Amino acid sequence: MPRLQNKVSIITGAAQGIGLATALKFAQEGAIVIVCDVQQAAIDEAVKQCQALGAQALGYVMDVTQRAAVDAVVGKVKEQFGRIDVLVNNAGITQDARLVKMTLEQFDRVIDVNLRGVFHCSQAVADTMVAQGKGVILNASSVVGIYGNFGQTNYAATKFGLIGFTKTWSRELGPKGVRVNAVAPGFIETPMLATVPENVLADMRAHVPLKRLGQPGEIANVYAFLASDEASYINGAVIEVSGGLTI
Ligand code: NAD
Repeated sequence: MPRLQNKVSIITGAAQGIGLATALKFAQEGAIVIVCDVQQAAIDEAVKQCQALGAQALGYVMDVTQRAAVDAVVGKVKEQFGRIDVLVNNAGITQDARLVKMTLEQFDRVIDVNLRGVFHCSQAVADTMVAQGKGVILNASSVVGIYGNFGQTNYAATKFGLIGFTKTWSRELGPKGVRVNAVAPGFIETPMLATVPENVLADMRAHVPLKRLGQPGEIANVYAFLASDEASYINGAVIEVSGGLTI
């Protein structure tokens, strides 16, 4: 049987990159996929691709920074399916600058999407998961959230912060049957890396023992495992998926 059969799964930032790969993987594994993002056309395309894999899929424009929008989507999903099994807090952005150059707008925007957005979505589903006595919340941290990175004061703070969320919620929600884990990808080939100069990408490849960047599907596989009952004793963990970048 597929590992995520009929699991109602909300995935944020699911219109492209790692989020899209995760939506497709969940679709292959039998999940009911709720594609949430801010890009309407790409949402529609992602939903079509999930349906083409035989999955039930719905799409919503949902900006994770807007609490009312998050509550509205969570309410609709509950109304339609009666439960929420998995939340993948994947939506995230970068607005890089060195400490001395970073504007308050850059700082606030990244905190708003990457940290506050995850708080909104998790708080919105937590009561339902607790009432079910079962659920999974997965957070998109990063190797930058373990080791820091040049030019990423705001982003690093959020990705460290997500590890704090993960460990705190695993303590708070674990006793209620809800598992909370984080994935810390290394450098993955998605549109997020589009602004990174080729010489920097070449340097990244050279530093990874596997001598290549990761593919979105290689992160999606880990989310699918963590969302499944095969990971039933994994809680409060931060799984690094970086090809050994930090060895
Ligand atoms: P991406 O930029 O390709 O995709 C991010 C998606 O999030 C986009 O579809 C975008 O529209 C959506 N999004 C942005 N703001 C949003 C908002 N306010 N509300 C809802 N959706 C919003 O990024 P990616 O590379 O696929 O990264 C996905 C996640 O993985 C991010 O949290 C990122 O920080 C993390 N991550 C990525 C890498 C990497 O190398 N690509 C490494 C480590 C961690």
